[in-house]
Amino acid sequence: MAWYRSYDDDRFPRKLTVGERQAQARQEAARLSKKGRKLSPVVIEGSTIASTFWGKAWCKHLENYSDYESRLPRGRSYARNGSVIDLQLGPGSVRALVSGSEVYEVEIDIEPLALPRWKALVTQCAGKIDSVVELLSGELSDAVMERLCDPKQGLFPSSGQLSLSCSCPDSAGLCKHLAAVLYGIGARFDQAPDLLFVLRGVDKLDLVSAATAGAMGSKKKKSKGELKNDELSDIFGIELDGGEAPVVEKPKKKKATRKS
Ligand SMILES: [Zn+2]
Repeated sequence: MAWYRSYDDDRFPRKLTVGERQAQARQEAARLSKKGRKLSPVVIEGSTIASTFWGKAWCKHLENYSDYESRLPRGRSYARNGSVIDLQLGPGSVRALVSGSEVYEVEIDIEPLALPRWKALVTQCAGKIDSVVELLSGELSDAVMERLCDPKQGLFPSSGQLSLSCSCPDSAGLCKHLAAVLYGIGARFDQAPDLLFVLRGVDKLDLVSAATAGAMGSKKKKSKGELKNDELSDIFGIELDGGEAPVVEKPKKKKATRKS
């Protein structure tokens, strides 16, 4: 029996305690894994959703969405409690499963970053970003970071650019499951900040001087993926071969299959 129900047959189910929700989340995750679905849950240790530059910047940006203000705190605690049992990010697309009174399917579509805005960012950051690592760890001058994080002209989407959908019976524009997923995205950026660029449909290398100017020649271009993986693993202290992070995963897989 599926956990998911459509709007038609659903009624507001009994509210579960946090413990019950967590147990349900574990049960459902185990069931889906058994069926072969590869889950990428949002795991948050401690009370802080995100602790790296881009993760924090994303969460801060969310809190500027005044239209969602009242729903965000509930989503934050949902995210912290391990309710987001699966989160998959792709270009302009967020797909997630959230354990609430039942397990709900969440879909968020995000408009791609408008080309003129991206071009303006690239122009304004020209010569100021020397490496992907600097960019992804947020170790750039305050002026550059402020430019990239500008609520209106930067990398982040406005609330109007989000198209939100959740299978729960809550008819509010932003239910707590959607809010939990929005925070979960911030937590995911802690592990894989490059997913911000994937999500917005832009190539982060456009911002990096060495890559755009070809300053390091073909070597830089050739080892693009590999270099990112190693450097990112060093910086973030994690293996970047899991989850749905095509940008970092792909080159690694290819390297593994050697021609002899
Ligand atoms: Zn919902």
